[in-house]
Amino acid sequence: MGSRGCLRCGRYPELTWNAKLLTTAGLTHYKKVTRSSGVSEYHARIELSTKVLDTAEKLEGTLIHEMCHAAAWLVDHCAKPPHGAVFKKWASKAMAGRDIRPNADKSLLSPEGICTVPSRER
Ligand SMILES: [Zn+2]
Repeated sequence: MGSRGCLRCGRYPELTWNAKLLTTAGLTHYKKVTRSSGVSEYHARIELSTKVLDTAEKLEGTLIHEMCHAAAWLVDHCAKPPHGAVFKKWASKAMAGRDIRPNADKSLLSPEGICTVPSRER
């Protein structure tokens, strides 16, 4: 990811690998910080499992999936329901925007087993 972040909002999610995620492929953590000025900032952090993501297909599908969660939060400020209409809007944009591997789209569109309900950090 470049330092410019999202072309629309200028922000970008933090991305880390986590060797302790054993059954979950990826997670997106949300954070909202309200400054004393009253202005709210939205942050997102994506964690990817080094154990679960053992093929390029799984990595690709999961990364795009989590990026859709991050976009729903950073751009639309929407985290609930986690795989609701806002998430699906971003997922369909991701599917339309590029060629993804045949098995990666399965990961992207069927969240069951890919990610648990994203946690929220304060
Ligand atoms: Zn998800």
